[in-house]
Amino acid sequence: MFDVNKIRSDFPILSRKVNGQPLVYFDNAATSQTPVQVIDVITDYYTRLNSNIHRGVHKLSQEATEAYEAARKTIQNHFNAAHAHEIIFTAGTTESINLIATGYTNILQPGDELLISALEHHSNIVPWQMLCERTGAILKVIPMTQLGTLDSNAFETLLNEKTRLIFVNHVSNALGTVNPIEEIIQKGHAVGAEVLIDGAQACPHIKPDVQALDADYYVTSAHKLCGPTGVGMLYGKSSLLNQLPPYQGGGEMIATVTFEKTTYADLPHKFEAGTPNIAGGIAFGAALDYMNSIGFEAIATYEATLLDYATEALLKIPGLKIYGEAPEKTAVISFNVEGIHPYDIGSILDQMGIAVRTGHHCAQPIMDFYQIPGTIRASFSFYNTKEEIDRLVVGLQKAIAMLQ
Ligand SMILES: *Cc1c(COP(=O)(O)O)cnc(C)c1O
Repeated sequence: MFDVNKIRSDFPILSRKVNGQPLVYFDNAATSQTPVQVIDVITDYYTRLNSNIHRGVHKLSQEATEAYEAARKTIQNHFNAAHAHEIIFTAGTTESINLIATGYTNILQPGDELLISALEHHSNIVPWQMLCERTGAILKVIPMTQLGTLDSNAFETLLNEKTRLIFVNHVSNALGTVNPIEEIIQKGHAVGAEVLIDGAQACPHIKPDVQALDADYYVTSAHKLCGPTGVGMLYGKSSLLNQLPPYQGGGEMIATVTFEKTTYADLPHKFEAGTPNIAGGIAFGAALDYMNSIGFEAIATYEATLLDYATEALLKIPGLKIYGEAPEKTAVISFNVEGIHPYDIGSILDQMGIAVRTGHHCAQPIMDFYQIPGTIRASFSFYNTKEEIDRLVVGLQKAIAMLQ
């Protein structure tokens, strides 16, 4: 059923060489690779359909609009949103979060409380800090534990009737921790707060059901789940999205424009000013189709075997310490080797054609918690193999021998 070699043949980049060695790509948490099924959709768009959407009476515009709206439907079905107009195309997770944070500017009052988790990516921290500066709202942090999980007792203590918004990631990009978002959403709703889930790191591994979760907002980027860069989505309950003001003004987001007064278009167009990334949106749909054709259960099962295999092999290396040992985590391993800077190891691995990430992974508060400058992060995808993990282990042993 799950045939990794067949899957690998869908990804042209996996057969290229880097520094004379076959590429081992273990930086999937930063961006995933793109299968030919998605590349073909982008090529086909510019070969056959290229035109502006929602505007033209002509055939190309109609076909492009249909393809773009069909992608929105695909995304709606994938996330089980109640309506297609609750799916807003954005440039990605970062823009989706900024859209919401900007939208709450005139809704919050000074002294309102916003809860964030200690495990967040900078793009789910900074827009809220900026919102607090504009409104006088107060940002409070749900602390983390040594294992890299959220402290749920502390979360309950922080919750109160002043809590207006809670934002947490579904999965931490730096550690792979899967957060208990169902519980967070329920407890948040119990005090009347709205909850935004950053799904950028979860969506390559997990198929979320936004209605079952009862998420108020759920955001993600296409490029982490086999789609192109520069496109993503914001899911929001229509009752909430209808209350928010538009994010940007321009074409496509209006109903009527005069110099006296402009009225805004309905969802989703209210939030989609200007010509969007049309090919990207269509390819986002194709990426979800591709991943669903493999199946998220098969992906999760296979990736768990990679994670176990790699964890066991890496822990045999003397002086190696893994950060993030949550009982439930995706296939991400963040680690350091005693006495060696992560960057030095990353550079030597690169010489061997092995791509890992080194640094703070846009999550400096986590690094501060562990009092380290950064980690080496190997993040796996369903197209990686145990043989590639063996190459990482050999590469690490060589790098350590050179650097110690
Ligand atoms: C990648 C990532 C982001 C940012 O996504 P962009 O595509 O750069 O906007 C935010 N949060 C998490 C958890 C991520 O992994």
